Amino acid sequence: MKKLLELEYIPFSRPYISQDEIEAVIDTLKTGWITVGPQTKKFETRFSQYIGSKHALAVNSCTSGLHLALIAAGVQSGDEVITTTYTFAATAEVIFHVGAKPVLVDIEEDTQNIDPEKIKAAITNKTKAIIPVHFAGHPCAMDEIMKIAQENNLKVIEDAAHALGAKYNGKNIGNIGDFTTFSFYATKNLTTGEGGMITTNNDEDAEMIKSLTLHGISKDAWKRYSSEGSWFYEINNLGYKYNMTDIQAALGLGQLEKFDWNQKQREHIVARYNEGFADIDEIIRPVTKPDITNANHLYIIRLKLESLNIGRNDFINELKEKQIGTSVHFIPLHIHPFYQKKYGNFPIAEYIYERVISLPLYPTLNFGSVDRIIGAVKDIIYANKKTLQFKISKTA
Ligand SMILES: *Cc1c(COP(=O)(O)O)cnc(C)c1O
Repeated sequence: MKKLLELEYIPFSRPYISQDEIEAVIDTLKTGWITVGPQTKKFETRFSQYIGSKHALAVNSCTSGLHLALIAAGVQSGDEVITTTYTFAATAEVIFHVGAKPVLVDIEEDTQNIDPEKIKAAITNKTKAIIPVHFAGHPCAMDEIMKIAQENNLKVIEDAAHALGAKYNGKNIGNIGDFTTFSFYATKNLTTGEGGMITTNNDEDAEMIKSLTLHGISKDAWKRYSSEGSWFYEINNLGYKYNMTDIQAALGLGQLEKFDWNQKQREHIVARYNEGFADIDEIIRPVTKPDITNANHLYIIRLKLESLNIGRNDFINELKEKQIGTSVHFIPLHIHPFYQKKYGNFPIAEYIYERVISLPLYPTLNFGSVDRIIGAVKDIIYANKKTLQFKISKTA
């Protein structure tokens, strides 16, 4: 039978690029200066003002940001770095890249953030740093983590790929640990297509990171082709090619300007989801805690599988049939083939992973779509309630 009404597909994620941002990129292309230069400098300045950090260093991804932060933190071959299993590949792979060993630990059930008690238990005399990940935009327990770091002389590198706009005890994320790295990947709250930023309040570390982003070359290497520059440069450190381009920075500047408005839209959508799911006992909504501002990067529902006759994967397939895109954050690292032989089990991460679905959340998602998503989730729940199924089988 031919469908009478073709439902429009709601993608899981969609960047919002306004006309001014498109024009800013075009303007940059026309200036003739397309790689790292004045726009990147300006973006760094604006970004550090926004966060309130002393320094902001632009890079080509959050992954390279994490890598450089580890180097600046002095993490070396033979060292150990504690992080969560409940994260993306980037967080842990960079630890291998500096020759150190990632020590994975389990999460808190309510926030899905790294559990400070499990950090404490994982510390050895080889531990050099902790990488907490502010999962989905909900800040980690930073008071506890900073205290553990101080007592054990460890560096704290925050993976804030989800957390631009988040606050902890009134402080912006980006201004707490030794280093914080942000992602401007296409799906993140602020995007430059690909890109990232490292914030720090330490002058020497900032100088080091800046040099490492461009081959370890002396200060302001990019200026060598400008009218103020000179052909002469010196390689002072073993560097990388991790710089941002001015094309990206022009987009980033525009994104930063409308960032607060974007965050407000996310807040409204989250509030609508929360309200829509309030009376559904089979779903656990994202946790909210006092003294934090959530960056609302992801809206994740948790299914109470014990009261349902449908698993998470089939639930996702049914949403897909209803033209709704979703995702799962995250497949715990220790489950992936590369990590499997190296780590044990992390029961909370595994328990959560089997039950979660990330629903669409972005500034241009209109309430009509949000309501359609809520309705679709409810329909699937109603059709698969265990109690309902029981009654039907009794009368059958
Ligand atoms: C996206 C993401 C990264 C990597 O960001 P890139 O900018 O793509 O390198 C790192 N950590 C987490 C938790 C992420 O979600």
